[in-house]
Amino acid sequence: MAVYFDHNATTPIDGRVVEAMLPYLQEHFGNPSSGYRRGRLARQAVEMARENVARLVNVQPSQVIFTSGGTEANNLAIKSGLRGAGCLAVSAIEHASVLEPAKTLSEGERDVHIIGVDNDGLVSETFMEEVLLERPQLVSVMMANNETGAVQNIERLASLANAKGAVFHTDAVQAAGKMVLDFNALGVQMMTLSAHKIYGPKGVGALVVDRRIELAPQISGGGHENGCRSGTENVAGIVGMGKAAELAVQELSDRRAALLRLRSSLELQLAALSGVVVFAEAVERLPNTVFLAIPGIDGEMLLMELDRLGFEVSSGSACDSHKTGPSHVLMAMGVDDVLARCAVRISLGQDNTEADVDALVIAMKQQVDALHSNAMVAWV
Ligand code: PLP
Repeated sequence: MAVYFDHNATTPIDGRVVEAMLPYLQEHFGNPSSGYRRGRLARQAVEMARENVARLVNVQPSQVIFTSGGTEANNLAIKSGLRGAGCLAVSAIEHASVLEPAKTLSEGERDVHIIGVDNDGLVSETFMEEVLLERPQLVSVMMANNETGAVQNIERLASLANAKGAVFHTDAVQAAGKMVLDFNALGVQMMTLSAHKIYGPKGVGALVVDRRIELAPQISGGGHENGCRSGTENVAGIVGMGKAAELAVQELSDRRAALLRLRSSLELQLAALSGVVVFAEAVERLPNTVFLAIPGIDGEMLLMELDRLGFEVSSGSACDSHKTGPSHVLMAMGVDDVLARCAVRISLGQDNTEADVDALVIAMKQQVDALHSNAMVAWV
């Protein structure tokens, strides 16, 4: 099997998570809304998972609303946070699941303001203060970017926005499990999480909310999830998310230390490749993420060659893989279009070893040498 280096796209499911889920796919198949024992068992499992997810971000369980993933949670936040004719502000580097609902709102004649980022991919206080002059009702800035890994100063940005009366939402899908997340200390009112980025199953996530926020349900029906998201609960998926959250809390410091060690080794070795540019290198990044470009080497081409050799990396956001052209994140950072097309993302995970990293760098070096010499031939 190929060596997997794309953990920001998705993570392999942890064996302990599968074990926790299995009974809820088999004998404990009850509907959590049913009053008899089998139903009650399913309900207990969902509520225990809610407690574990709440612990991951230090909130009360009643603040956790389970959804079908990060995309739905982002849609719920963006579509819920506005009342009357209020306007919205979102950063330019958000995931498509924030940018697309924002675009839909703007096409519906609602004012949507895009907050720019600096060359390191950060929303500066100045950019935030500028956008706050427009008096947005809701501001959405992600905790950490899926492509560069750059971590925003959410505590500061949320306090500026709150001081002007705006509700603050942060997409913490990539940050969860890789750094300490404290909803209250950050001062945000809504936060998005997704299970499959923390070694849990796909198709389950959560929106964490301040109890004072009145959500506008996007899926109505039987009034599940406190009336915020109807539909019979994905019990096994939710149990899996709960277990993944529990493990992420218990193992966070060990996971971070291991990832940081691997990343330093990777970056040290990559520095020997001529002209390598690491995006957002100067700022705090997720411990597992390296988004780089080797000038003159097309990112897609390098990805395909590495795939052939048994290494799975990404040329950017897997979730936007239908899109062609350079990354919108790099464009917002003012990166030159030609360099942006050379971008390759390596996102490490728990299953990677020092030997994997060494082998990847050797393969990259070989490919770079080969692609460079082909480019030279093409020039002649
Ligand atoms: N937000 C970010 C930052 C992401 O990276 C992703 C997925 O890649 C999502 C949201 C969407 O989450 P999901 O795949 O659970 O819908």
